[in-house]
Amino acid sequence: MTAFWTEPDFDDHEMVHFVRDRTSGLTAIIAVHSSHLGPGAGGTRFWHYPNPKDGLRDALRLSRGMSYKNAMAGLPIGGGKAVILADGARTKTPELLAAFGDAVEGLGGRYVTAEDVGMTEADMVDLSKRTEHVSGLPVSGENAAGGDPGPFTSYGIYLGIKAAVKHQLRTDSMEGVHVAVQGTGSVGGGVARLLAKDGARLTLADIHANGVKALAQELGAEVADPDAVLMTSCDVLSPNALGAIFDEDSIASLKTQIIAGGANNQLARTQHGKVLFDHGILYAPDYVINAGGIISVATEYLARRDGQSSTVNDVNALIEQIPERLVQIWQSSEASGTSPDVVADRMAQELIGRA
Ligand code: NAD
Repeated sequence: MTAFWTEPDFDDHEMVHFVRDRTSGLTAIIAVHSSHLGPGAGGTRFWHYPNPKDGLRDALRLSRGMSYKNAMAGLPIGGGKAVILADGARTKTPELLAAFGDAVEGLGGRYVTAEDVGMTEADMVDLSKRTEHVSGLPVSGENAAGGDPGPFTSYGIYLGIKAAVKHQLRTDSMEGVHVAVQGTGSVGGGVARLLAKDGARLTLADIHANGVKALAQELGAEVADPDAVLMTSCDVLSPNALGAIFDEDSIASLKTQIIAGGANNQLARTQHGKVLFDHGILYAPDYVINAGGIISVATEYLARRDGQSSTVNDVNALIEQIPERLVQIWQSSEASGTSPDVVADRMAQELIGRA
């Protein structure tokens, strides 16, 4: 048997904590990749994995991803992630959440949790009864930081799209710039609304036909078939649905100059960043442009931990630094002939002391 820590996904994690509570039926993995910059922070995923090894792989990959994302967002936090291995029926009980909250508390702040797939704001409230090390809680006052991270993620992506348009198309105006948005849920819907205010021409696609039709009507946008949206002839393609959408085949049929959207892990494999670069398409590394949500969650947590208050304005001021970071990546990419995703990874590795 090969040692677990020699697996490529392990990537020198500082801690991988396995939790088993027979009474509540909890089985969970809490992974902290790096605490070089602060406590390992990242959401908890509640998911059924027919093969538990896939749950471990998810925890490790997502935890490393959070190290990179948090470092590039300039946050004083490290990277972590938890996975609760749900049963086939995804049974979530108060006892199971309580046991998980106790496990997080037992780590004494080395790991800080928040929402991820399968976990809601109400679940965070339940966890907060057992541990202080939780964020993404309902907002407690007017203009206070916190709550649903979606709108903050949308704001950062909107600013990133404007920076990309300025960099690639040499214009400050979004008037008439054609943006195709894949996925019009919490993040993509918010991006579309912000762009519509600036007069961008929008093409929207979502597998929820009724929802996307209503949004398109509201914003005066066109609707594209979800299977065809990646091939839309446009200035900017903004993926806000699924990961692993860019591979050799899909890249060959792209008709855009820019890719800038919030979906996590958009490149099917690392080498596809170079394929985009070779096609002359400007790519905004996903974990840099979609950091608005974690900026909100982290600001909320750090202020509460330190007995201070923080406002939406504090959060927005940090999100407004995303465009500068992207421009720095693109300039370095062009100067070195290296694709932006690789430049971003190297910058993140330097920041977390793993270069
Ligand atoms: P969401 O569930 O609110 O929206 C996703 C939308 O994508 C849904 O409307 C869904 O119908 C649609 N969709 C799914 N498959 C599709 C397909 N094949 N074609 C077109 N549309 C499709 O989720 P969200 O919170 O908006 O997150 C969107 C993406 O952004 C995810 O990849 C998520 O991991 C990432 N992300 C979200 C946040 C956040 O703050 N919510 C932060 C960082 C990254």
